[in-house]
Amino acid sequence: MRDGARVGAGLEHNYVALGKMKTRRDKLDTLFSLLVRERAGWMCEVCGRYFPEDDRQSLHCSHHFSRRKRSIRLSPLNASAHCFSCHQTLGENPVLFHDWIKGHLGDEKFAALRVQAKRLVRLRKRDKADIYSNLKASWQDMQARRKAGEMGRIEFEDPMPDEVWAA
Ligand SMILES: [Zn+2]
Repeated sequence: MRDGARVGAGLEHNYVALGKMKTRRDKLDTLFSLLVRERAGWMCEVCGRYFPEDDRQSLHCSHHFSRRKRSIRLSPLNASAHCFSCHQTLGENPVLFHDWIKGHLGDEKFAALRVQAKRLVRLRKRDKADIYSNLKASWQDMQARRKAGEMGRIEFEDPMPDEVWAA
């Protein structure tokens, strides 16, 4: 239950990122989840609680819009690091969740995310390989910066290559 499988049942809009999801996770999702949480310095982006190395699975990669929307499934704008408790609170209060996301991103990025959510993507096998490489490069960059002592938030780029966007 630590992955919160039943939390927010019926609120699939917010909860596909949790345990019993309909969309299966692949290695892109796993790497993306790591990036989202490392970006936040392994702190909950709502309450600020820090998760040390031996307790990292208690910090969730929480998607704003459903992961089933392929165009934003791996978008840095579409996910945040939330502890179980904040994830649950926001999940039970969709209006609160909406307000939090909007405040967190700011109006401009929130609008950009909504536009991106509606775009169509066409993913071929080699696009997935490119996406994976992009995610991995971001991960290595983040790791190097952490090793060099950089604290706080480290942003990462959207990994989607230009070719995947339908006209
Ligand atoms: Zn929290």
